[in-house]
Amino acid sequence: METIRSPDELRYWVESWRLENRSVGFVPTMGALHAGHLALVRHASQLADRVVASIFVNPTQFGAGEDFERYPRDEERDSELLQEGGCHLLFLPEPSTIYPQGHSTFVEMGPPAERLEGEFRPGHFRGVATVVTLLLNLVRPDHAVFGQKDAQQLAVVRRLVRDLHLPVEIASHPTVREPDGLAMSSRNAYLSAEERTAASAIYRALSSAREHIEQGEHSATEIRRVLREVLEREPLIDIEYAEVVEADSFEPAGVIRGSIVMPVAVQIGTTRLIDNIPMEVD
Ligand code: AMP
Repeated sequence: METIRSPDELRYWVESWRLENRSVGFVPTMGALHAGHLALVRHASQLADRVVASIFVNPTQFGAGEDFERYPRDEERDSELLQEGGCHLLFLPEPSTIYPQGHSTFVEMGPPAERLEGEFRPGHFRGVATVVTLLLNLVRPDHAVFGQKDAQQLAVVRRLVRDLHLPVEIASHPTVREPDGLAMSSRNAYLSAEERTAASAIYRALSSAREHIEQGEHSATEIRRVLREVLEREPLIDIEYAEVVEADSFEPAGVIRGSIVMPVAVQIGTTRLIDNIPMEVD
């Protein structure tokens, strides 16, 4: 695996693969890698001949008072994991490379970026949409792989690629979980032992809601109630939202039918965690 920091080196590698007729898969990350990220790399290597991963803690997607400064960073460990995981090229740009002096162009989006994460983290998806557009333009992959873990981000990226006619196929990978169901996340490292135990209620709530739907419940109101009931039993959890939405638009579902997502965001101590379960319902 090669590690590079500049767009020129990136272009050199990707163009040399293109000359050999090799396809390129791309996995953007913010580092502090775990098995979820590595599953995306594996997925990308099944779709494409060469895999590029990026590690970039993107300042524009963090709001004031969020965890940009304390976000875990461990370049050495990450690059070992990527190397073992079958990545061919690691792109590790500096913020000044992605946003050079005078950068003033941002990607603004309507739905599906407006609600939920869009409401609780104003400006977040503007930063995400901008950095994803920039990275896709720099890497120019055939395929880019995103995690279902960030379901609204996935919907935002799919919409962005469609609206801007970007020449890339977006693939998604299911959420990789700990044995008790907690979604793997770089932010789980912030949790104390007690908070970590409390966090398992998130997946219990989602699983309970899924069971109700599997048993024929079609009322979104009832499913929201089930999600809240399980989460509220855990005193360390503060609910930001526990929703049922249409998968493409992230608009609230009325009747549960077709492609839906149940996204949840909670605060546990000073840590904010998100998770969801997607479902196809007849
Ligand atoms: P991040 O480093 O958190 O920005 O995530 C980079 C990519 O990894 C995003 O596409 C995430 O959705 C994905 N991802 C994060 N956690 C998981 C997980 N537990 N399972 C699958 N994908 C994940």
